[in-house]
Amino acid sequence: MYPIREQLQAELQAIREAGTFKEERVIVTPQAADIAVSGGQEVINFCANNYLGLADDERLVTAAKATLDRYKLGMASVRFICGTLDIHKELERRLSEFHRKEDTILYAAAFDANGGLFEPILHAEDAIVSDALNHASIIDGVRLCKAKRFRYAHDDMDDLRTQLQAARDAGCRRILITTDGVFSMDGDIAKLDRICDLAEEFEAMVHVDECHATGFFGPGGRGASAAKGALDRVDIITSTLGKAMGGAMGGFTTGPAEIIAMLRQKSRPYLFSNTLAPVIVGAALKTLDVLDEDPSLLKTLEDNTAHFREQMTAAGFDIRPGTHPIVPIMLGDAALASNMADRMLEEGIYVIGFSYPVVPKGQARIRVQISAAHSRAHLDKAIAAFVRVGRDLGVIEG
Ligand SMILES: *Cc1c(COP(=O)(O)O)cnc(C)c1O
Repeated sequence: MYPIREQLQAELQAIREAGTFKEERVIVTPQAADIAVSGGQEVINFCANNYLGLADDERLVTAAKATLDRYKLGMASVRFICGTLDIHKELERRLSEFHRKEDTILYAAAFDANGGLFEPILHAEDAIVSDALNHASIIDGVRLCKAKRFRYAHDDMDDLRTQLQAARDAGCRRILITTDGVFSMDGDIAKLDRICDLAEEFEAMVHVDECHATGFFGPGGRGASAAKGALDRVDIITSTLGKAMGGAMGGFTTGPAEIIAMLRQKSRPYLFSNTLAPVIVGAALKTLDVLDEDPSLLKTLEDNTAHFREQMTAAGFDIRPGTHPIVPIMLGDAALASNMADRMLEEGIYVIGFSYPVVPKGQARIRVQISAAHSRAHLDKAIAAFVRVGRDLGVIEG
């Protein structure tokens, strides 16, 4: 036997002993507010990125079926050989319109969009200035690129200025500031208005990852950039079709025509990976129609989020203030967070505890994600369960 097997067994055991081993919970129903897990237990789901509740929406499913019937399974090709359908071009046009940019390029995932963004447009004489808490896919994309790297403390505009100055002092040519629009562990929003001010001052470009915003957050669901009044000021947006936009999969980059054109020439996940399946494109086009026709979904999500945040705060929980449907319930202790999540599951509420190294030491939490698919009854059942379990575990008084 190769020694790696024994070595990995020991490393896996160490992960288990550290209490950070990730198990997969098997779900036996479509993604929705009400789901059943294997073994049959029915629970209310509060940990999906299904913000608009579109993952099982019949309008999208019908459109997906029609696209499947018309274009069948897939193209068995990358885009530039024989993998570009009329509907890929249509979806790119619609996404450009949605985020108010000139052109869009589709990827199999937002992970690929970020992975393939930096290297084609930035070289050794250029610089990337990155928020310290950016998503793993941005970090990986930056690693693949030869540009100089500068990192600013999370959300710290003074430090961003310092790093921009350092990049300018180093004589860098192009400078790109890169940030998540919404940070997934806290649900906090990047200060894109101020980031764009600094970008102007230092003649830098701005890239925003809108994965936790596209379709549902900010005016018209146009993202954190729109929420901060900076939709037309940010240069490049990457985002996903795998969260609010139906939840299947797929990602994209949207921005200035020349940048998108260069990505089509040089972005490796685009050049060397299969085209997005037609069925997903059909569903995504329908998602954009639904967002146009039915703004009530966004309102429902906003109302649900406000209700949950208000009631939980009133009950005495330590909730990071904000308006995003990511609601972190701060607990501090890692064992408490994991214990509380287990107890909530017994109550029929599916939530996840996060602790170090996913969040800083001493900041363990349960992260709740609100959806437009939740009814008031779902929300109130979750709040009541949190209060019962929270009292039991001494998290709140009473
Ligand atoms: C989910 C997420 C991604 C990855 O999106 P996929 O389409 O699932 O690859 C990238 N960036 C951020 C900020 C995300 O939250």
